[in-house]
Amino acid sequence: MSELSRETVAVHAGRPSEGPLSPPVVLASNFRTYGYTREEGSPTWEAFEAAVGALEGGESVAFGSGMAAIAAALEPLPVGARVVGPAVGYTVTRMLLAERAAAGRLTLESVDVADTAAVLAACEGAALLWVETPTNPLVGIAEVDRLCEGAHAAGAEVVVDATFASPLLQRPLELGADVVVHSATKFIGGHSDRLLGVASARTPERAQALRHARGMLGGTPGALEAFLALRGLRTLGVRLERGQATAAVLAERLAAHPAVSAVHYPGLPSDPGHERATRLMDGFGAMLAFETAGGAAAADAVCARVRVLTHATSLGGVETLIERRARYAEEAAPEALLRVSVGVEDVEDLWADLERALAG
Ligand SMILES: *Cc1c(COP(=O)(O)O)cnc(C)c1O
Repeated sequence: MSELSRETVAVHAGRPSEGPLSPPVVLASNFRTYGYTREEGSPTWEAFEAAVGALEGGESVAFGSGMAAIAAALEPLPVGARVVGPAVGYTVTRMLLAERAAAGRLTLESVDVADTAAVLAACEGAALLWVETPTNPLVGIAEVDRLCEGAHAAGAEVVVDATFASPLLQRPLELGADVVVHSATKFIGGHSDRLLGVASARTPERAQALRHARGMLGGTPGALEAFLALRGLRTLGVRLERGQATAAVLAERLAAHPAVSAVHYPGLPSDPGHERATRLMDGFGAMLAFETAGGAAAADAVCARVRVLTHATSLGGVETLIERRARYAEEAAPEALLRVSVGVEDVEDLWADLERALAG
């Protein structure tokens, strides 16, 4: 199906060739013919994996959460391996790497993944480069192609967490990454109704290592969760089209608002990630962040006043969410930062709500 657009592939991939049009939920721990679900997988996971694999251009393995996928991707690292990781990025990934480093299981150098020269300088002697792009919560953009080239030359594997872009807006495996991970809890599933993760590998051998880690560590998805994530994936194209069009409008209007001191959105021509995102992505995505001129108290007030946007954590659902990321002690976020995951509501309803919340 490679000649079809990714939006079309997202609708059609992973469907059974006979019987029901959509793969059913198969509730089974074991099968008469091919074994035990934790080790061999199940038809409901496989349908989801086939669909994501077709989009990524690799072989996909589903997990019970994004973190289960991330932990499985880290699993083959030998004790003492040197890892280059993101200084700004998903909090729990950074905590996982930092805790493993503190326990002596690996040595960690944290870098700004948007600073290509700094990342490549750190890759000398590394076993793994971990890249998240766009980054949480600042929506920074890494030069995945150059990072992969340089990291591979230094002998390091590259894993990319592409959750913020979804498989429709960025294909890290094509840009040279060895493994791409997604929290399918977010844009892929799209409805804030389950946890799920997926890791996709460029080679069958690396995919097998991910599957092995899933079987050994037990980070398996539930059948209903995999079913819901695949159902969500079917509408990812339209959800994203709407979300990113709205994000572009909100970013532009926020940038012109007197109560806003900074907007982070790669779709803005003035954004430091704009050129890279134009070159490496098929859209600027539905995540943006902004800072209130009135500091932390003003940011808190916005969260308290919104009525159409919801003040809640997480992202990638049909509902627009706003969150103060600086509340998390481990997160390297500016004090007055608000992260917005733009959903599919009417753009003017969202803007009116934000404007009223910013006015006080
Ligand atoms: C949410 C998220 C994760 C973790 O995924 P879970 O499904 O919550 O385990 C990892 N990376 C990024 C960028 C995320 O947004």
